[in-house]
Formats: sequence, C-alpha cells, structure tokens
Amino acid sequence: MDISSIPEDSSLEKTFFAHICDKYFYSSEWLTFTICIYISFELIFWLYNLCLVYIEYNDIPAIEKYRIQKHKPKLRFQSEMIREIKNETIKHQISLIFALSSVYPLLNLNGHVSIRSSIPSLFTILWHITVYILIEDFIFFWTHYLFHTRWLYKYIHKKHHIFKQPTGLVSVLANPLESVFQNQLGVWLGPFLIKEKHLFTLCLWMSIRVYQTINAHSGYDLPYISPQYYFPWLLSGTLQHDYHHQHARMNYGSFLTIWDRLMNTHKLQKDE
Ligand SMILES: [Zn+2]
Ligand SMILES: [Zn+2]
Repeated sequence: MDISSIPEDSSLEKTFFAHICDKYFYSSEWLTFTICIYISFELIFWLYNLCLVYIEYNDIPAIEKYRIQKHKPKLRFQSEMIREIKNETIKHQISLIFALSSVYPLLNLNGHVSIRSSIPSLFTILWHITVYILIEDFIFFWTHYLFHTRWLYKYIHKKHHIFKQPTGLVSVLANPLESVFQNQLGVWLGPFLIKEKHLFTLCLWMSIRVYQTINAHSGYDLPYISPQYYFPWLLSGTLQHDYHHQHARMNYGSFLTIWDRLMNTHKLQKDE
C-alpha cells in the first residue's frame, strides 16, 4: 500500500482499522486483513468451544435437557478424542494463518478490500452477508454432497466423520482438500464476487460462519442462541448436522435447508 496515496485529511478522522493498520501492522493492509480475520475466527472458536467443554464436564440440568444424543453417555472427552482434537486443532490453527495470508491478494483480484474507509451502512452489510451466506451454502451443499459419494468419502471426507457424537472442537477435523474446496472456497467466493468489500463486514462474516459451524457441531439443540430456533423451516443447524454425523448421510447444507429440501436429503431425528 502506497501511504502517499492516502488523502492527507484521512489522518484527522482515522477509522478503527486504519488506526490499527498504522499503529500495529506497519501500515500493511495485507497484515491487517490477515490478523483481523484470524482473530475473528479464534475469538468465536475458543469462546464457544470453552463453553461446550465446560458443559461437557459439568451437568447443568437446564442445558442437559437440550442434549441431542441422550441415548448415549456424554463425551467427557476420552483420551482418544483429546489426542485427535489436539493434533487437528494445532494443525488447523497453523494452516489457517497461511491460508488467510493468501486470501487478501485473491480478493483484490476482483475489486478491493476496503480497510481504511468508514464502516459501510447497515443495509450494505446486510446484503453483503446475505449474498455470502447464499453462495457459501450453495458451495458447501454441493461439495459436501459429492464428498459423500463412495470414493471421495472413503479417501477424503471420512476423517470429518470419525466421531458420530460431535462437539464444537471436532468441526476442524477435515482433510486438506475438504478444507480448501468445501470450507475456504465457500467462505471466500462471495466476498471475491462483490467488488467493494469492507474488512469490518468480512470479520463479521468470518465470526458468523465460525459460530454457525461450532453451533452445528455442539451436540445441543439450544434455544435462543441457535438461528434455526427462529426460522426452523429455512435455516439448517444443530439438529440437522448432528443427524448427519450420526448416520453419515442426509442434511448436507450449512446455513440453509433449501438444497436439502430440493434434493430430498433433509431429515431430522424426530422424523424417524
Ligand atoms: Zn460436521
Ligand atoms: Zn459429511
């Protein structure tokens, strides 16, 4: 970024991201993007997962009643699970920082990631996020659907299905090909297609996407904090993805139930 191209008066009313870019990230927009998106991911990932770990070791009656697989004992993170999660979480944290560092130049191939400008209007944020969700859900559904064909499942997607009783931390279990084509492609194609995207909206988008996936793997059909509680017909969520892990079939969507309903792959436990 050529600093001389920034209008002089911009220093008078520096936006939050412009301020941290100059103060902490050597005026590098690439570094600001990478770190801010990484922090958005990690913050939600660890906050939600630490709550789930606490719930797993402490039986809270008000929450226990929402546990989905009540016919099985609680996970309590047996040693095999801890080992698997530890390895995969460390690998995921390291690979994510490298993946994100290549996202910024890719997004700038079509339009520009705004970092120094003011935060967009609420209307712009909402329509951008809506487009991101629609595109992510489309990519996620169809790649996931393909990953459940015999060969791709055996050699790629099976790793994600090791645990039939999921918890938030197992959401990172994935073959690298799955991470790229199912997860990263789905998340970043929407922002790539919209020319002017703001870092604030992208941080919000990353937080929503991480929240959605941790929630889907939580093992608890919690009311109020789950989006599908408000729009059960339209939004996919914990009940759908938990069923998917139990049976390794049906419910391939991420945010929405649209594609599953069209392809006749939508199913809930209570439908049986
Ligand atoms: Zn899953
Ligand atoms: Zn699957």
